[in-house]
Amino acid sequence: MSGFDFDYLVIGAGSGGVASARRAASYGAKVAIVESVRVGGTCVLRGCVPKKLLVYGTHFADEFADAAGYGWDVGTPTLDWAKLIAAKNRELDRLNAIYIKMLNDSHGHLMGDRVLREVGDIFRRAVRIFDVCARYGGEEFAILMPGANAATAFRIAERIRRQIEQHFVSGGRAGGPIPVTVSVGVASAQPATTRETLIAHADSALFQAKARGKNVVCVYP
Ligand SMILES: Cc1cc2nc3c(=O)[nH]c(=O)nc-3n(C[C@H](O)[C@H](O)[C@H](O)COP(=O)(O)OP(=O)(O)OC[C@H]3O[C@@H](n4cnc5c(N)ncnc54)[C@H](O)[C@@H]3O)c2cc1C
Repeated sequence: MSGFDFDYLVIGAGSGGVASARRAASYGAKVAIVESVRVGGTCVLRGCVPKKLLVYGTHFADEFADAAGYGWDVGTPTLDWAKLIAAKNRELDRLNAIYIKMLNDSHGHLMGDRVLREVGDIFRRAVRIFDVCARYGGEEFAILMPGANAATAFRIAERIRRQIEQHFVSGGRAGGPIPVTVSVGVASAQPATTRETLIAHADSALFQAKARGKNVVCVYP
């Protein structure tokens, strides 16, 4: 379908929109979702879930009243409305994150593994023989470059960032390309710098790279 950025455009990331987008993506369509609020729709954000949480919360008034009849002394129960709403909102945030992850995971775990392996190969080819590359978390890597100053580390990191940007991993469910990018934080150690401080500095530079729109290398400070 040349001439279009997407094969399938879904308006509204509610239960129906998300399900249909995921189904289309699983057949290889390039899908975009347009949503005016947050992912999850009426059921998650306004309807089924918040309703159940709030209705369940109101039942405790009856439970406390009944408890006295069974010998419990629960004092005078009071409801902190702000606390209830904050807890409900935290739960909605959690569900929202799950929905977003579900959409991001549309390519499947095997594809995720393959992306990690191919990105790892790029790291290995780009660094010097005595540098150390390690997977630091789920989708996080650390590269230790003994003796490299910040300028050298930046140059290597920028080369890695460019190579990954240009590297399209083929074999998505559609057999089509999947663009992959990385955000990089660079920090260098002075003789007195502890491991924890070095990692915190690299983390801080990484947050800066993400805040600047991702696919960027930032050097601490
Ligand atoms: C109070 C309440 C309680 C409910 N309780 C239950 C229950 O317990 N069990 C149950 O099965 N069902 C329940 N429902 C029904 C359930 O929420 C809906 O059936 C379900 O959400 C419908 O899903 P949907 O994807 O079709 O639409 P929605 O979930 O409404 O999603 C539509 C999405 O489109 C977005 N949107 C709308 N216009 C635009 C636009 N122009 N541009 C971009 N985005 C836009 C909206 O922001 C929304 O996120 C309840 C509904 C309500 C209101």
